[in-house]
Amino acid sequence: MTSLQTQPTSERSANIPSAVTAAASRPESVTTTGDKTALTFEDATCELCGRAPTEHLLTTHDMGWRAPGEFSLVRCTHCDLIITTPRPAPASMPRYYADWYSHKTLAEQHDELRKAPYHRYVKWMRLKVLEKTGRLEQGAQVLDVGGGFGAQLEYYMDKRGVNATLLDFDPAVTENAMIRNRATIMSGDLLDADLPENHYDLVTLYETLEHVYQPKATLEAALRVLKPGGRLVVEVPDYGSPFRKLFGRYWFATMVPVHLHHFTKPSLQKVVKAAGFEPLRHVAVYTPFETSASIAVRYCEKRGLMVSDVTEASKVFKPPYKRVPFYLALSIWTGGFDLPWQFWAWLCNRTGVQALVARKPG
Ligand SMILES: [Zn+2]
Repeated sequence: MTSLQTQPTSERSANIPSAVTAAASRPESVTTTGDKTALTFEDATCELCGRAPTEHLLTTHDMGWRAPGEFSLVRCTHCDLIITTPRPAPASMPRYYADWYSHKTLAEQHDELRKAPYHRYVKWMRLKVLEKTGRLEQGAQVLDVGGGFGAQLEYYMDKRGVNATLLDFDPAVTENAMIRNRATIMSGDLLDADLPENHYDLVTLYETLEHVYQPKATLEAALRVLKPGGRLVVEVPDYGSPFRKLFGRYWFATMVPVHLHHFTKPSLQKVVKAAGFEPLRHVAVYTPFETSASIAVRYCEKRGLMVSDVTEASKVFKPPYKRVPFYLALSIWTGGFDLPWQFWAWLCNRTGVQALVARKPG
């Protein structure tokens, strides 16, 4: 894990070519336990057709955590995949994650994942989305890819009595998983994980597929480990959402460079089918605070803050009475605008997060 002693400043180079040394621009006040070698970048190609993507959509940078680098979202006009390019080379990516997870202690993160109303809602909602295609049976073998600390698997174990396997590429996360005494915990990439074939009843990738370098190959690996008839759940941001169009580069889920792919509903269907799955159900997920989060991203960008500074308003608004107008404005916006707008978008099946449930043929 990493500790951020102070917030980094917004030092960034204007445009990063395909390979560059960015470590020199990192402020000395950031300490990380990750790889200290220079960051390197690579140009991305479309995994589906092997071509370089050509339709430039926007160029931006990490607005949430102020990590170094400029990145473009470029669409492959043959396949509709939207790809981040240039992107950190795989050896450099762990440093972006090390900084990302840094601003809270393990105990705080576990506590929040278990108890915060928002996280409780997310876990409940995911079970509802899944079970519209059939109940999750007791004893079912469930593999969560990119499952982090295992909060979702813990919920499935508690509510349905499933047998859980957690796989996450970050050993610092899996070593501190909240289910480490109750489940199989593995650290690594699904592409080369030592997992039994035709074994799982359910494979889930919640907010994971947009982070991988090879989404189609990753889904093909999920297909191999699933039993025939087993289910796949993929939950990713929806780049076709009206709120993405409204907020543009400030949309909360743009999140370069850790988001390497940006799926619309049609492009997600395309990748899932190309990997050999039969889609069963594809829905928008009610996502409270979507517009609040995007407004927070814009606010932070304009003022040189990190999003975590604003979500923990005590860091920005000192003394405490200065937080009152902020919380008042946030409450009015959330209650009066964000939640009703999200409800409307959800009814229209057009929120910023999509979930697709698919089935392995056979
Ligand atoms: Zn392509």
